Amino acid sequence: MKQRKGSLFVVSAPSGAGKTTLCWKLCDSLAWIKHSISYTTRSPRPGETNGVHYTFTDEDEFRSMITEGELVEWAEVHGNFYGTSKKMIEDMTGAGFDVILDIDVQGARQIKEHFPDSVLIFVLPPSMEALKERLAGRKTDSEDVIKMRLQNAIGEIKEYKNYDYVIVNDSLDTALKEISSIVIAERAKISKMEHERIKENFLKL
Ligand code: ADP
Ligand code: 5GP
Repeated sequence: MKQRKGSLFVVSAPSGAGKTTLCWKLCDSLAWIKHSISYTTRSPRPGETNGVHYTFTDEDEFRSMITEGELVEWAEVHGNFYGTSKKMIEDMTGAGFDVILDIDVQGARQIKEHFPDSVLIFVLPPSMEALKERLAGRKTDSEDVIKMRLQNAIGEIKEYKNYDYVIVNDSLDTALKEISSIVIAERAKISKMEHERIKENFLKL
């Protein structure tokens, strides 16, 4: 029987809104969804592991991946390059896994162009004040980096209209329930059903 192809979910948010926390919790709670591992030229933060949170690379290698057409989308974000491997997406969706892409608004646009069926989810913090507090509370970025990320936040939030869903990450538990509901509902769509399995199990006497 033909393997059901997985769906793509894109999650974007201004830095510090909590989308990484949300995406990893989602992957922990649903066995059929995998987190895409992006390539980045940014340095690892404490606690980040190469090949788990990101594949860390340098600018020369990143540019050569662009030239070779290995990235399905890429963008410069907050002064660093980030991109998604075409092969990884094809391998994971081909194996039947849904894939969550935690990427910025520029990357989201490119994914929607390539994959019109992808589902775009925008995560908002409860307020700009909370965003500031979360960025500072994370203790992973310098004051200059935090300042730049806050300045970029307004431009990113303006893009919310291009998304299918908006989630306000105030209570993490509520936000997790909301994003899980979106993923579960998408999986139950008629267009994604395994027609052959239904025919085999229910429509034959
Ligand atoms: P992003 O990936 O959007 O930059 P993170 O997931 O790194 O954001 O979260 C930024 C900080 O906010 C982290 O310290 C995280 O633990 C915290 N955080 C995430 N969600 C919430 C929430 N709902 N309430 C309070 N703090 C949160
Ligand atoms: P951070 O440095 O905080 O991990 O990520 C900074 C921004 O880059 C976030 O908005 C994150 O979603 C985005 N990002 C991470 N990976 C990718 C990617 O592969 N492509 C694009 N376009 N953005 C990414």
